[in-house]
Amino acid sequence: MAFEFFVKSDITFGRNSVNELPKLIKGYKAKKVMLVYDAGVKFAGIADTVLHSLNEADVEIVVFDKVIPNPTNEIVEKAAVIAKEEEVDAFVAVGGGSSIDLAKAIDVLMTNPGPIGRYGGIGMVEHDLLPLIAIPTTAGTSSEITNVSALIDTEKVIKYVVIDNKLVPSKVIIDPEFTKTMPASVTASTGMDAITHAVESYISNMATPLTEYNSLQGLKIIYHNLPKAVKDGSDMEAREQMMLGCVITGFGFSNANLGLVHGIAHTLSAHFQLAHGMANATVLPYVMAFNAKSCPEKMVELAKAIDLPVTGDIDTDKYLLSEELLKLTKELGIKTLSEQGITEEDFEMVADDVLNEPVLGFNPRQNVTKEDVLAILKKAY
Ligand SMILES: [Zn+2]
Repeated sequence: MAFEFFVKSDITFGRNSVNELPKLIKGYKAKKVMLVYDAGVKFAGIADTVLHSLNEADVEIVVFDKVIPNPTNEIVEKAAVIAKEEEVDAFVAVGGGSSIDLAKAIDVLMTNPGPIGRYGGIGMVEHDLLPLIAIPTTAGTSSEITNVSALIDTEKVIKYVVIDNKLVPSKVIIDPEFTKTMPASVTASTGMDAITHAVESYISNMATPLTEYNSLQGLKIIYHNLPKAVKDGSDMEAREQMMLGCVITGFGFSNANLGLVHGIAHTLSAHFQLAHGMANATVLPYVMAFNAKSCPEKMVELAKAIDLPVTGDIDTDKYLLSEELLKLTKELGIKTLSEQGITEEDFEMVADDVLNEPVLGFNPRQNVTKEDVLAILKKAY
């Protein structure tokens, strides 16, 4: 057995752990902090709570509240200009994956020359970043602990990733109270993103015993708690478990990578601005059924992990998970592609672009064809 496994996160977990923020900021000796969040975080009152906490740290604050879902290169460059002009020396990102991914990318440009697009790929960032404290308000992307920033290149119309260990936030504050106000639909789609991370990383051809352990544990926790959190947003036990499941899963997939589900979702988000979690969830059951032929034993292990009734016949058992995921997506109100505004005329172009997604290199079923992708899109329509 031989493998590498990278973990760097420094996590404070628990209700009201946001109260730790002033102490952390002081620890970094920061003088001017850029606070990055979106309108939803403002609307939920979370931005005000964090601002209040930051005020206690006795630092100047520069607010960047123009975060959009699927952040683009343009917004990164725009925010970086402000951050440089203001000479900020630390970042606090509050929100879902979009806010945290955006803050990571702005931070890259504070110590490395632009444009941000040059850092697409793995290990392309040269200099260490300024301190970044991540405060997630969704349970899904695990961006708070990963070394990834996913961005849209609007010229090439692709969603690409900057992957570099320097991007791992310096500190993470996970306060499940902040997920309480998340609407049921967002809880469902971001939670399905987390399930996608667990299953795709488990069957990835980069998986190791340590990532497999994380993926299975994460799946168990998220699968059992997601329906509870969607049904009753104030179920704090379920909310807490969702956050925990995302951390565990994040350690797995940031080492094992993902697969075809994310390849399709990235393409759909780049062209049609589909929300990341929803795009994944829509195609997840069909891609897992497609992959089952290449990794039947692992599909059975996933089914066992969530107590599905395995029969011992691998030919049927290998599809138990994809069937269950289809049921789960229906139960949680995940939309079809047509309900998200995609038309069948779009399929050809989407399928062509999916084949260029680098993440397909980690998918257990290799040599994916255009016809394969078209068949999956039709099923998800
Ligand atoms: Zn994802």
